[in-house]
Amino acid sequence: MELIKKLGTKISESGYLQSYGIFLCFVCNKEVIKQLQHGKAAKSCGCNKNKGENNPMWGKNQTEEARKKISFANEGRKRTEEQKQKQSVRMSGDKNSMFNIHLFGENNPNW
Ligand SMILES: [Zn+2]
Repeated sequence: MELIKKLGTKISESGYLQSYGIFLCFVCNKEVIKQLQHGKAAKSCGCNKNKGENNPMWGKNQTEEARKKISFANEGRKRTEEQKQKQSVRMSGDKNSMFNIHLFGENNPNW
């Protein structure tokens, strides 16, 4: 990002000297306060973080191995009744990707 104005130096809680400045974010055109070293390196203020093509996984598919790891990590995870209820509501009716899809008879892939 582009540095507009230096704000000066502060001592952080951990005792380090940190220089701050006002940066202009090219993505949202907002002025944001960042540490000098971070602001210069960052392409945006964080507004476009992990969205669309800025997501590190954009355009990539999970490898089979990664899928297995995720599946393994999620195995045995218990959901609470509340979570089940919420998911039930979220996935019901026209919000369900299978809504209005009837795979009977010839339409069934296993026909
Ligand atoms: Zn921004």
